[in-house]
Amino acid sequence: MFAIRSRPTVQVGLKIAIGQGLVSLVYQPIQDVVSGRVEAVEALMRLKMLDGTLVPPSLFIPVAERTGAILELGRWAIRTVCAELLADDHVPLVSVNVSPIQLKTPGFAASVATILGETGVTGNRLAFEITEGLEMEMHSDILRCISDLKLLGIKIWLDDFGTGFAGLSWLRLIDFDTVKIDRSFLHDCGTPKGMAMLQDIIALVRNRGHKILVEGVETDEQIALMREFGIDKIQGFRVGRPVPAANFQAKRGVHKRPYLKSA
Ligand code: C2E
Ligand code: CA
Ligand code: CA
Repeated sequence: MFAIRSRPTVQVGLKIAIGQGLVSLVYQPIQDVVSGRVEAVEALMRLKMLDGTLVPPSLFIPVAERTGAILELGRWAIRTVCAELLADDHVPLVSVNVSPIQLKTPGFAASVATILGETGVTGNRLAFEITEGLEMEMHSDILRCISDLKLLGIKIWLDDFGTGFAGLSWLRLIDFDTVKIDRSFLHDCGTPKGMAMLQDIIALVRNRGHKILVEGVETDEQIALMREFGIDKIQGFRVGRPVPAANFQAKRGVHKRPYLKSA
């Protein structure tokens, strides 16, 4: 649907969608394995068409990246996270997905600093997730931007680790606070080969001194396995599905039950 539209059409379309409240954020809990507490949430974008159809981010984010509309969407997401979730201390930390296109755009770190200043949120309550799956050429602008963001106190996480070729290079260049191991590794660990892969990737990340988050935890057995492997944080449908901001209580780190409906 988006693919056939021109760049200006998509940019204007997404701007209108933001204005009309058709773009929203849902938040998925991230649990600390040792304490069992929800220590963070990940912000995930949702787009509703005028006829009510929900477009998954896997469809509209790549289009937004190709057309440049991701800059407007990304700024909106960071501002919304600060205004609707971080304005008081319901949740200690929110992670936001950030596209390399945003990181490469001159002035991105300054625009984040402006949002923090205007909303009164401190940078240390934000983490930016950078996926290794996207275009990952070693751009010096990206490295400079990341160090500016770190100066603001923002944590930098590596997302979907293990899915692309660039992950190891990124690990060499950037001191990530947390590395999120892609959910495919957990799902494939039913076979001896899959289990060996999961253990290898955990060892690799741990030896480099990063905190480890495993994504896609869907069963109690997987939670027990993560505990056994000494994983720091877990995320997945067994911990909680993505829900609107209103589902978080005004009590630090408590994720209201039931977090039943996927948004
Ligand atoms: P991601 O960053 O890897 O986000 C996790 C995705 O896995 C989410 O899909 C989430 O709903 C899904 N998920 C979480 N737990 C489980 C589980 O236990 N099992 C399974 N099967 N899936 C699980 P979603 O919301 O459709 O997002 C898809 C992707 O779209 C995200 O993948 C991210 O790359 C991108 N995205 C979403 N929001 C944003 C955004 O604001 N900005 C950017 N640049 N990208 C975004
Ligand atoms: Ca993510
Ligand atoms: Ca991920």
